[in-house]
Amino acid sequence: MNRAVRLPHTDRFFEARFESIGGLGAHAAGQVLATAAVLNLGLNGAHFSSYGSEKKGSLVRSFVRLGPGEQPIRTSTPVEAPDAVIVFHAVLLGNPGTFAGMRKDGVFIYNAQAGTIPAELAALPKTVRVVRVDALGIAVEENSRPNAVLLGTLCSQFPFLDAEVILAALCAEFAGKHPEAVAHNERAFRRGATEFEAIENVGRAEGDLPIAKPEPEWGYETQPAGGLLPAPGNMAWNDLSASRTGWLPVLHGDKCIHCGVCDLVCPDMCLVWGDGKEGGKFERELMGVDYRYCKGCLRCIESCPTGALTKDAETPGLADRLRVRLFPELIS
Ligand code: SF4
Ligand code: SF4
Repeated sequence: MNRAVRLPHTDRFFEARFESIGGLGAHAAGQVLATAAVLNLGLNGAHFSSYGSEKKGSLVRSFVRLGPGEQPIRTSTPVEAPDAVIVFHAVLLGNPGTFAGMRKDGVFIYNAQAGTIPAELAALPKTVRVVRVDALGIAVEENSRPNAVLLGTLCSQFPFLDAEVILAALCAEFAGKHPEAVAHNERAFRRGATEFEAIENVGRAEGDLPIAKPEPEWGYETQPAGGLLPAPGNMAWNDLSASRTGWLPVLHGDKCIHCGVCDLVCPDMCLVWGDGKEGGKFERELMGVDYRYCKGCLRCIESCPTGALTKDAETPGLADRLRVRLFPELIS
């Protein structure tokens, strides 16, 4: 059913930018939103993403641009001055590019547990509406993904995004390949639409934020000699510290028999081997996990014969505390 809806502004497109890390579902969220808007809300829309490898935890940006049905959208540039920014992981608040171009009358949604308000949010315009939702926590409880929760929260902030229409598109996305996920996603979406928290008085900036175009840390003029990369990843910004699922494997050394089965199944070679404590009983012993490379797939846990690896919810700082470095000589 097509029907005309009223966009928030008549003189420009509505633009949303999903800020994420590979694996959290930002691309799919943008796709669902744009598809529903075009097919079921009578709007014109465009969607595309920029991203790298999921297992490297690369920065992912997904862009959605919506306009009236009678107005073609001829631009396909990234969204630089968003009406809505949706942040899939609180670690991304450390990247100034997350805030770039934020409009003063926009909505800034970020995924984080209740608690201290990050100091970085002071960079936002004073008049922006800031919304926090524990998307990862809800997703874990509902056996869903953060993208379903965040879509629900986004719809709650913009009445023209009819929540039932967007939810129907989300369900349709999964009905074919993963019908078992439909009910989980629906619950996650509905909780996202209601279980958010508006945070007052955090932004300090006046007016719209300036547009920023990120520069790579290294280019052909600044690249260290010999092609050496002293930090993993060569993106403009690349924080690999966050799990992509909300779960982390935790090693309990007293139960480990150093059989190496976990290492056989790990797709990203995150498990760190060494000489063991006090010389070790074995030639090589499992020392721990380098979470910088771990995407939280939990295959290692499923395959461990002794229960030496357990699944723990990713809480702030846990990965930093437990991390064993695979390459201690690297700077990050
Ligand atoms: S599979 Fe389990 S017991 Fe074997 S090395 Fe890995 S953690 Fe240790
Ligand atoms: S969860 Fe386990 S198997 Fe998966 S990437 Fe992390 S260490 Fe490797």
